[in-house]
Amino acid sequence: MKNRLMSMTKHFSSMIRPLGLVACLCVLTGCVMEPITGRRRLILTPMSMETELGLQAWSETLKKERLSTNASRTAAVTRVGDALKKTVKASGYDWEFKLFESKQANAFCLPGGKIAVYEGLFDFLRNDAELAAVVGHEIAHATARHGGERMTQALAVNLGTAALLYATSGQGAEQQQRWLLAYTGISNLGVILPYSRVHEYAADRIGLIYMARAGYDPRAAVNFWTSFAAGKGKQSAISEFLSTHPLGEKRIAKLKEHMGQALAEYRKAPKRHGYGQTY
Ligand SMILES: [Zn+2]
Repeated sequence: MKNRLMSMTKHFSSMIRPLGLVACLCVLTGCVMEPITGRRRLILTPMSMETELGLQAWSETLKKERLSTNASRTAAVTRVGDALKKTVKASGYDWEFKLFESKQANAFCLPGGKIAVYEGLFDFLRNDAELAAVVGHEIAHATARHGGERMTQALAVNLGTAALLYATSGQGAEQQQRWLLAYTGISNLGVILPYSRVHEYAADRIGLIYMARAGYDPRAAVNFWTSFAAGKGKQSAISEFLSTHPLGEKRIAKLKEHMGQALAEYRKAPKRHGYGQTY
């Protein structure tokens, strides 16, 4: 019994060693602080690498997707994007905002500052301020370097998997497979998924401040997400957006939590547009 316990302790310590290494690196290198929220997290990927990957994905997107021919909607994306990028203090970004022809109500950002909006989103937008809520949220994913943070998490999970294989190497293949299944189950549900929620809430909060600083009434963000959530049963086009942007009362409640700070920023904005142009 004692021997078994000792060997389990040995296995366990070799399993957690890589995670300990990550924690040490965090202390040694200093974690990267997220803008606005001040959340500290470890990012091992250099920003140049994230930008490079973002640019590669962007050139693929430009080849694959068709640019929208709707002049007024394209102008809205450019107008709102330009107003928002001026409020972002982070350097090293080459901002670009494109509207793509698609029935999908979707938007995404790539590391380095490339933002895509799909035309279907306009079915749910009533004004520039609501568009600023979505584009501000996407800009926030880029400035908060959520891509790099997720790559670092994947690295930690891979290190954990390698350690588990090493620790269980004396056991039969079947038993090893069981360990691995248990571990990957835990690592996906326990690490990756909750982080994506953290990223969504963080992007909402940061985006809210960006839109307020750009002079758009931040209350439009609550209006947009509320009506978007209400319309989700009616439109299959938004299902893809929802898979990456979980909606719920908690999300809207969290936005409201930060409304006081956002409204204070809005009052200080050099030029206030209110809800801006209506569609
Ligand atoms: Zn998001």
